[in-house]
Amino acid sequence: MTTPTDQHDHGIDDVRAEVARARSAGRSWAALGPRERRAALLRWKRTLARRTDEFAGLIASETGKPLHDARAEVLVTLVHLNWAARNAHRVLGRRRVPSGVLSVHQRALLAYRPLGVIGVIGPWNYPLYTPMGSIGYALAAGNAVVFKPSELTPGVGVLLARSFGEAVPDHADLLRAVTGPASTGAALAGAYGPAGVDKIAFTGSPGTARKVAAACAATLTPLLAECGGKDAVLVAADADLDAAADAIVWGAMGNAGQTCAGVERVYAVASVHEELCARIVRGARALAPGEAYGPLTLPSQLGVVERHVKQALVDGGRAVLGGPDASVTRTVGPVVLTGVPEDSPAVTEETFGPVVVVNPVRDMDEAVERANASAYSLGAAVFTRSRAAGLAVAGRLDSGAVSVNSVLGFAAIPALPFGGAGESGYGRIHGEEGLRAFAAPHSVTVRRFAPAVDLTSFATPRAKAARAVELGRRLHARF
Ligand code: NAD
Repeated sequence: MTTPTDQHDHGIDDVRAEVARARSAGRSWAALGPRERRAALLRWKRTLARRTDEFAGLIASETGKPLHDARAEVLVTLVHLNWAARNAHRVLGRRRVPSGVLSVHQRALLAYRPLGVIGVIGPWNYPLYTPMGSIGYALAAGNAVVFKPSELTPGVGVLLARSFGEAVPDHADLLRAVTGPASTGAALAGAYGPAGVDKIAFTGSPGTARKVAAACAATLTPLLAECGGKDAVLVAADADLDAAADAIVWGAMGNAGQTCAGVERVYAVASVHEELCARIVRGARALAPGEAYGPLTLPSQLGVVERHVKQALVDGGRAVLGGPDASVTRTVGPVVLTGVPEDSPAVTEETFGPVVVVNPVRDMDEAVERANASAYSLGAAVFTRSRAAGLAVAGRLDSGAVSVNSVLGFAAIPALPFGGAGESGYGRIHGEEGLRAFAAPHSVTVRRFAPAVDLTSFATPRAKAARAVELGRRLHARF
């Protein structure tokens, strides 16, 4: 069983051994009926719920985030595990699909089978919630998992694996944790030769995703890549500005801005821009850094935040709250910038700090254009009093998920798939797609009776087969 003392640096041999152990546990797990698998996962979920304080305490101590944030993280993690456990059979279980006129004599059956062992590589910003988006869904789909947590949050990964073994002792090795630096993740992805995994689910920065993709390419191991974001909030002239400002401040400053789908850009229609800025500044100024949110978890991120803020000012932007001086320590005060040119790093690159750029736009068309003109496309939000207009704008945004009149509304709804495109990665976690991401479609046909014209037999007279083909062609030409 994995224990917290197992937090040493796992090299390629350790990684291979853990994958082999997980694979062997996975065989009996895959053979279980859906009801038993669901019961085991729900037992694990109840264990996690009962141990919320233990997990939240560890998350808080490893990341520096406040305990109340860590407890909320545990809750949304439970919501996803619960959904994956309860819906796996409905989504992946065998079912009949229409066989069509040409194959009316066949019964067509579709099922989704587990892939085997999934290598999950996780980040530190939500060290429980983010990897569970892969781990919970992969286990529910019948796979085993080897989890490589971030080197900043190894304890959470080890505790998670251990808690599974305690809650589901018959399959204790199904979830294994391997700890260590980048090289441990690289080993799992196959950079030093095959590790034996059947898919990698990676969450982290786009730069690392490229390295993981290159490692996976050598063995044609499929990859799901959940990378960063530069999410925009679009504010219409008729928006409830108090609600918009409240959500923007939370979305931008919460977790010290270290959220992949956090708010980093705001495009407000010119008529309400100034008023919105004033409300955002009021809300952000009222926050006590260190209490409302913690320090930057990764010390080197301070340099990125400072560079973005300083360059924004050099490029002609204005700080309406905070500024370069806000980031003299790792607990950065909120920074609200405006009038920042669209090619400044504070607009184009992921800042991952409590910094938000609030730029004015002519109208919602320009807001959509600017929101979409990003290398990232993970999440976005729209504020307007008109639900129809909100939905129309949402439909024009390229991001993988959009919230109308809230921020990050999709993150706690497990039925909604999550993921992006471009620098935000590819593939989806959560929801039905998130279950199918860890399963292979398996198609079966069962011949029910001999067809009038059997096109798969040399015994069928050629002229008869040709007449049937011609009839089919004519039907398709007409309808
Ligand atoms: P990171 O890319 O530095 O590291 C992520 C993980 O990859 C870590 O476990 C790390 O050890 C491992 N790793 C590093 N180099 C590796 C390599 N060559 N091969 C294999 N694994 C390697 O990211 P981070 O700093 O931990 O996390 C922050 C990033 O994650 C941000 O960009 C954030 O937006 C993103 N993120 C995305 C989501 C999402 O769901 N889209 C969620 C949370 C965080």
